Amino acid sequence: MFNLILFGAPGSGKGTQAPLLVQKYGLIHISTGDLFRHEIQNKTPLGLAAKAYMDKGNLVPDSVTIGMLRNKVEAHPTAAGFIFDGFPRTVPQAEALDALLASMNSQIDLLLEMEVADELLIERILGRGKTSKRADDQNESTIKTRLQNYNNETLAVATYYNSFGKSRKIDGIGSIEEIFSRLCATIAPANVG
Ligand code: ADP
Repeated sequence: MFNLILFGAPGSGKGTQAPLLVQKYGLIHISTGDLFRHEIQNKTPLGLAAKAYMDKGNLVPDSVTIGMLRNKVEAHPTAAGFIFDGFPRTVPQAEALDALLASMNSQIDLLLEMEVADELLIERILGRGKTSKRADDQNESTIKTRLQNYNNETLAVATYYNSFGKSRKIDGIGSIEEIFSRLCATIAPANVG
């Protein structure tokens, strides 16, 4: 298996690049944000619990998130590998992911961190909010809370994988195609497949 973490702040372009990577490398895309929004749409108990956190721009508790992620991974026992998008967002989530993959005789191969300046992130998210209808994309103070949570809790995940030599930074500013080629050039030496 070949497993990637697509990493970066809200608005850094993970959701834009993930489908392109899926197409090129034949991996299964798991976005915890998309999974939560699906649960919310279906008004499940998990969705209702998550919504209260998401609308404020806060992280959903690890206990909820890790269980949901595990179910999704275990639903694909023959996958060539996964692209994790929006997960892990805390070090305990990263440790849980490593344990899960180890139980499948696998591991995280690479974390790709897309770097974009905060001012541009806010601009991109407010732009997306006009069409996405996402409650958390509508106002600047919720967006700032998300960026704060990213800096305070999530960035440590990149440091964690960096301690195993698995973390790479990518310039997240440019056209979709430019950024995609940067990602592919960084993946290439890691021997996909
Ligand atoms: P973005 O990257 O633009 O913030 P996502 O769709 O990845 O968008 O996440 C939206 C929200 O879903 C987050 O702000 C958070 O509330 C919740 N969420 C998604 N993934 C996780 C996670 N791994 N841990 C905790 N909360 C999460």
